[in-house]
Amino acid sequence: MQQINGRSRILRALGFLSPYWKNVILILFLTLLTSAVNSVEPMVQKLLIDALTTGGSTVRYAQSLMGSVMLTIALLVLLAIARETVGGLSNYLSWRLRLRTNHKILDSAVGKIYSLSLSFHQNETIGSIMTRLDRGITGFSSVLFDITLTLLPSLLYLACTIVFMFMMDARLAWVALFFAPLPALIGIRSSKISAEREKQLLSRWMCIYSRFHEGLNLIKTVKSFLLENGEQKRFLNAVEDTNELVRSGVKIDAKYNFLKDICMDAGRLAVLSYGAYLIVHHEITIGTLVAFLAYTGSLFGPMLGLAGMYETLRKARVYVDTIFDIIDTADSVSDRTDAREMPTVRGAIEFDHVAFAYRGDRPVLKDTCFQVQPGSMVALVGPSGSGKTTIVDLLNRFYDPQIGRVLLDGVDVRELKQKSLRSHIGMVLQDTALFNDTIKNNIACARPDASDDEIARAARAAGADRFIEKKPEGYATQVGERGVLLSGGERQRIAIARAILKDPQIFIFDEASSNLDAESEELVQQAITELAKTKTVFVIAHRLSTIRKADLILVLRGGEIVEQGRHDELVEKGGLYHKLVAVQAISLHSDTIQSSDFDAVAPSD
Ligand code: ADP
Repeated sequence: MQQINGRSRILRALGFLSPYWKNVILILFLTLLTSAVNSVEPMVQKLLIDALTTGGSTVRYAQSLMGSVMLTIALLVLLAIARETVGGLSNYLSWRLRLRTNHKILDSAVGKIYSLSLSFHQNETIGSIMTRLDRGITGFSSVLFDITLTLLPSLLYLACTIVFMFMMDARLAWVALFFAPLPALIGIRSSKISAEREKQLLSRWMCIYSRFHEGLNLIKTVKSFLLENGEQKRFLNAVEDTNELVRSGVKIDAKYNFLKDICMDAGRLAVLSYGAYLIVHHEITIGTLVAFLAYTGSLFGPMLGLAGMYETLRKARVYVDTIFDIIDTADSVSDRTDAREMPTVRGAIEFDHVAFAYRGDRPVLKDTCFQVQPGSMVALVGPSGSGKTTIVDLLNRFYDPQIGRVLLDGVDVRELKQKSLRSHIGMVLQDTALFNDTIKNNIACARPDASDDEIARAARAAGADRFIEKKPEGYATQVGERGVLLSGGERQRIAIARAILKDPQIFIFDEASSNLDAESEELVQQAITELAKTKTVFVIAHRLSTIRKADLILVLRGGEIVEQGRHDELVEKGGLYHKLVAVQAISLHSDTIQSSDFDAVAPSD
């Protein structure tokens, strides 16, 4: 079954060449032509040598000999020109084709990687994805070409050579053919080992680059905990271990190569000895022996090429699997075949008895029910880990609940195309990361067709215009990787401007509390309040001033909504929220509800 799967994947891989079939045929034709020219050359050499070595001493004979020598040399020159021209052209065309197919394979793989749900990305490291993509694509396209462009030319060359050899002398042909397959058989044996090694190397490089990528991502932590040397050592040790594998492979290859060379030398020597014997007994000409020696030498190449096909196919399995494992990844969240667009929405949200677990039977949300009217503001309040982010992630359909439904304007979000659903939602995350680009492009990525005026308006609404205009390069300021050249508050406001420019009906704010200065905090607050007048706004809220304004407060604890309602209602109810507000009123951190406050008013189990 696995083998059938492997074979069908190789056929699918060949399918990447199908749009360029005319090119493939042209390249194949040119390669076959080169093979044919190569196999004819020794025959012409034989004619030349035979002409030179057959007796005759008259002047007429000498003149006719000069004529045929000139003719054969001219023929050899023509053959060499043809071989080089056709070979060069087919080489150029096959590289061009390789780049095109690489582009197509990359397109499929990268498209798939971006389309895969968060579950995939949370389980895979970026380093491993990059290594699989990089090594997979390079190996994948080279085996694709090896399979397509080696098999047929090698077969043609072998067929022509064998025919020519038997035409010249069957006895010598059998001697040459006896030795020809031996190096190929050794090649098959060594290829099994090297394909296995290839697989191990791929997985080792994946691990090495995953860790390296992680280290670079956490560069501040690495530096502050003085982990640089440790990480470098770890990296180099892993590379050294991998090199050890390569070194032992080189040794094994050298052993097999030695055996292969010995067999080839033995073949050439056997043909030379037997051929010499036949010449002494006047059974063949010197030209025949010279041609035979050339054919015997060049017989091994295609034979090894064909035996190498076995290795190539085994390697192909490794690379083809690497790429198709990505392309064929079954996604936990995907558009249904009948999924539809929703061009406009009002922004009414309902969670209808939603239960969700990331893994197994450890529920993160339990029987969650709430309704949000269009244009209202919802504050999600609860200690860290209580499920606030999970709620907004389910609304975005980054995951699907195991039980219950998430409804947008009364429609189950699983009935909508993910792109259509997300086009109505603007997210501003607490841990805002920007692209390594200008401020303008970071805002405009929400709507690449936006005019400068619209971008400036969005920045103004987000309270970002003043700090942008103060920068010497204004909107053209580069923000650095993940926005490191800006402060947390500036990053946050650019992220808000981006969401405002997108102009969705629903906004989600993971309200940052810790990393904003007072001015930024005030501006972010104003922006949220302004948006809440016309849009449905979800705020993962820590500030009482924000929570107070909400039309609906959801108080979460341990994946359950323990209370919901408006500020006054909840205070009047005298429950958990009331206690929180009471603690908060006397605590030193005047406006911020923190996880510790929950523990103070109602310790968790
Ligand atoms: P909050 O936003 O209230 O801090 P979350 O919704 O982020 O809480 O997380 C709720 C629970 O789910 C936590 O226990 C957290 O550890 C767990 N969790 C969050 N994301 C994942 C994930 N991708 N895989 C497994 N568990 C997760």
